[in-house]
Amino acid sequence: MAKRAVVLLSGGLDSATTLAVAKEQGFEVDALSVDYGQRHRVELACAQVLAEELGAVRHTVVRLDLRAVGGSALTDAIPVPKDRPHDAISEGIPVTYVPARNTILLGLALGHAEVIDAFDLFLGANVLDYSGYPDCRPEFLAAFERLANLATKAAVEGRGRYRVHAPLLKKTKAEIIREGVRLGIDFSLTLSCYDPDDEGRGCGHCDSCLLRKKGFEEAGVRDTTKYQER
Ligand code: ZN
Repeated sequence: MAKRAVVLLSGGLDSATTLAVAKEQGFEVDALSVDYGQRHRVELACAQVLAEELGAVRHTVVRLDLRAVGGSALTDAIPVPKDRPHDAISEGIPVTYVPARNTILLGLALGHAEVIDAFDLFLGANVLDYSGYPDCRPEFLAAFERLANLATKAAVEGRGRYRVHAPLLKKTKAEIIREGVRLGIDFSLTLSCYDPDDEGRGCGHCDSCLLRKKGFEEAGVRDTTKYQER
């Protein structure tokens, strides 16, 4: 029987590729998405389609409204930065940082994994294009893995050891896109934008849209992303 894994699936390009990598590694994939009140909630519709297309055995959506906490351009009345030069994007921690998001998302993935007897958690964290997010760093992921093995009944009773997998951690956006193409992902089903319209079309100008465009260019892959006209 294939080993189970929980894959955090946002509906973006990175998490879709991560799901496909987990499948290729032989895992039976349980996809988990979180409706945290994100400005770009339309990504959850993409996640649902991707979970099915990429062969997840199940797709669970957890609702946890982080707008009650706020403090981010993605969950609060703070404008999403537009048209920033690449140097500015990769410098400092941007206002699109959501306080403690990966700690919260991995915590939910861990609880879900414990219930379904999975010990492998996958997420699409990446340090190259988003060096600003402290909860995407390898040190954070190693610390969370340690925490998972201290915090759960399943680990304490010796039923298994939790592992946190971030297969895209050190890849460039272009490398991720090439990997996704190799794994047969239709990237037009994914949404990266922080500020999309109701139809799920990217703004074309936020950090995430700019990195995505640059990634397709560098990968030499035709970009089928739908953008709003401005
Ligand atoms: Zn955008």
